[in-house]
Amino acid sequence: MNKELNTTCCIAGGGPAGMMMGLLLARAGIQVIVLEKHGDFFRDFRGDTIHPSTFTIMDELGLLDDFLLIPHDEQTEVKGTFSGKQYCIANFARLPVVHKVIGFMPQWDFLDFLLKEAKKYSTFQLMLHAEATGVIKNGSKVTGVSVNTPEGKLTINTRLLVAADGRGSIVTRSAGFTPIETSAPMDVLWFRVSRKEGDPEQPLLNLVQNNIFIAITRKEYYQSGFLIKKGDFDRIKKEGLAAFKERLRKVIPFAATRLDELEDWSDVKLLSVSVSHLAQWYLDGFLCIGDAAHTMSPLGGVGINLALQDAVAAANILYEPLGNKTLTLTDLKKVQDRRALPSRLVQKMQVILQNMIISPVLLHPDKEVKAPLFIRLLQYLPLLRTFLGRFIGMGIRPEHVRTPVKTNAN
Ligand SMILES: Cc1cc2nc3c(=O)[nH]c(=O)nc-3n(C[C@H](O)[C@H](O)[C@H](O)COP(=O)(O)OP(=O)(O)OC[C@H]3O[C@@H](n4cnc5c(N)ncnc54)[C@H](O)[C@@H]3O)c2cc1C
Repeated sequence: MNKELNTTCCIAGGGPAGMMMGLLLARAGIQVIVLEKHGDFFRDFRGDTIHPSTFTIMDELGLLDDFLLIPHDEQTEVKGTFSGKQYCIANFARLPVVHKVIGFMPQWDFLDFLLKEAKKYSTFQLMLHAEATGVIKNGSKVTGVSVNTPEGKLTINTRLLVAADGRGSIVTRSAGFTPIETSAPMDVLWFRVSRKEGDPEQPLLNLVQNNIFIAITRKEYYQSGFLIKKGDFDRIKKEGLAAFKERLRKVIPFAATRLDELEDWSDVKLLSVSVSHLAQWYLDGFLCIGDAAHTMSPLGGVGINLALQDAVAAANILYEPLGNKTLTLTDLKKVQDRRALPSRLVQKMQVILQNMIISPVLLHPDKEVKAPLFIRLLQYLPLLRTFLGRFIGMGIRPEHVRTPVKTNAN
């Protein structure tokens, strides 16, 4: 028999958006269930960036000191290397925030930290191995969600269902929404390359000839990405692993002898890049946030920031009407009105950068890579580097925690 549960707010997806919104609402006394289809947060390819705005949120929650105890790296600048020459692209040192750096922390550590805090509130529940399969409607109103669990099917009745299930969101589609796609010229191949003493410490962005390499440094390895023309993976595979490694040698010559760690193509994962947005983020009783509302390209490493900012804005706007049972379409529209512009502007900027930096390299294999004019100009314009630091690190219309603490922590 189908089991049923009731809650005030059910959030489908335990990524940055879902976990942050769950924590904020639970802390404000709202009963929340977060559904996560996996059994833990331990997955690669999710991005590790902790933006200056995220440190600010942690500070506003009174958690910054504890948060900084988690092992992580910090940088005050973002740099890129074009044909061996390094350029500074963005600077965070002069931002009006409490912690003026960009951090790099495995996302599972970040999500575990949010979970540890959220669990202190009796109003919070995380269900693992719980996959949302579709919205339940009564007329035009969303009243709940169907869930697959190892114990069988479950129905959760809720005042508000939040789709925070990321790119390719099933929940959003089941509500009848179709994302509007913007073209992304690239896909990313992900793999690991081990680190040795003396290797570069900071994250890497290296462009040489037809090759674009990005990497986040983890303790023992580089979580590495190699950008390819969209749909080109089959052709690259046909060329063979040896040819692929030859291209890698050009962008990470210091790790040339370690490329044998890639034994076969199963060590290389394809991640299809998409950039899309929803025209409308809400229905009666239903809201989409994070990548479920606006799928971000990895370019600039800003998707996590936007997901978290959506979560803070949604919790700020909705905790009161949720608590006093007065939630209306107007409240949900307020969330989209506040957050759609920042995400659309960032996506537009990502598309401009794609066209300016990525496409010329991927589409013209024989040309030597040169830093675009604006990156060369940036070297003489420190204020502009700070402006870019602000754009990447804080986004447009930064959010601040306005939700109260209403539940006593356990
Ligand atoms: C290759 C690549 C690299 C990136 N690197 C960065 C980076 O360095 N920095 C950055 O800021 N951004 C990066 N991004 C973008 C970033 O990953 C996203 O913008 C961000 O994770 C969005 O957060 P979210 O919480 O909305 O969704 P997600 O992080 O996708 O989280 C969704 C969660 O929902 C769960 N889920 C999915 N379906 C269901 C379901 N039906 N039921 C229950 N649970 C479900 C998933 O398991 C997941 O835990 C990158 C993106 C790509 C493609």
